[in-house]
Amino acid sequence: MTPREEADLILAVDVGGTALAGGLVDQNGAIITSQAVATDRFGRGEGILKNLLELVASLEDETRRLQLPVRGLGVGVPGAVEGGTGRIGPDIQNIPELGNLPLRDVLQERTGLQVVVDNDVNALTLAEWTFGQGKGLRHLAMIAAGTGVGGGLILNGELVRGASGYAGEVGHITVELDGRPCFCGSRGCVKAYASGPDLVAQVRELLQGERSSIWTELTGGDLGRIDPSVVFRAADRGDAVAEAVVAKAAQALGAGVAALINLCNPEMIILGGGVMEAGEILMEPVRRWARFYAFERAFSRTRLVRSGLSKQSGVLGAAALFLYEERRRDTA
Ligand SMILES: [Zn+2]
Repeated sequence: MTPREEADLILAVDVGGTALAGGLVDQNGAIITSQAVATDRFGRGEGILKNLLELVASLEDETRRLQLPVRGLGVGVPGAVEGGTGRIGPDIQNIPELGNLPLRDVLQERTGLQVVVDNDVNALTLAEWTFGQGKGLRHLAMIAAGTGVGGGLILNGELVRGASGYAGEVGHITVELDGRPCFCGSRGCVKAYASGPDLVAQVRELLQGERSSIWTELTGGDLGRIDPSVVFRAADRGDAVAEAVVAKAAQALGAGVAALINLCNPEMIILGGGVMEAGEILMEPVRRWARFYAFERAFSRTRLVRSGLSKQSGVLGAAALFLYEERRRDTA
């Protein structure tokens, strides 16, 4: 085995519902170059795999141009992944074509690289732990609210995956016993109140086609254009429907945070993802509800912060994932 150089690069790919984001990342978390292609979500699995392989090949070309050696490939995907085998589970939201695919083996075989595949929020949690606000902590948890609501857990300095990769799925903790249905087959999950698409769906249900001036103004008259950022803007301006939906989302997230605190007693919980970009309008009530639902003594030892990583945190996460597994292999 050749010794690892400071300058060695990690190929990192974040598989999303609409785009594959790739980058070359050094071991300090600097993204040397990045690129993105469409996921091809309406194609079949082979289409997505083809795009993924082309993206990896293009990143490899870039390393040859830079004349820098590659250590391996890290990939984050939006679903549970079996830790031992790198096989994607059946519950992969938005990209069902990748369900049950042994992605690690496929990529390893096709690229000849050392490959690590894991859940994208596990990857984000490792990015926060390796390069971000969670650096050096023993107990860290993350909740990422975006298209879905994912979670990641680091306890005693180790990523917790569980028996089949489902550990840390905070978004699917039940917070309302007979609540809104969720894609996972359950009801009343945190996700069913706090994900981006669920925020929008709840607004639509409450509006029931009624038009009020604020929604007309914010969407240019086309209610089809309501997205999470519009919901938060309407709430900020005092619209009762938006306020009710945001309040419910915050309560659900706060209950999820409290469940994490009571279950794992982490030193820090980081909230990230597109929905959290709303900022204090969401963070403040989440903090309030978390305090309400959790043990006061546990809550007081948990720093609750918003992610400070860039928009490219998914790519950074995929690289952190590879570094984490490489370190584990080295010490095994
Ligand atoms: Zn669910």
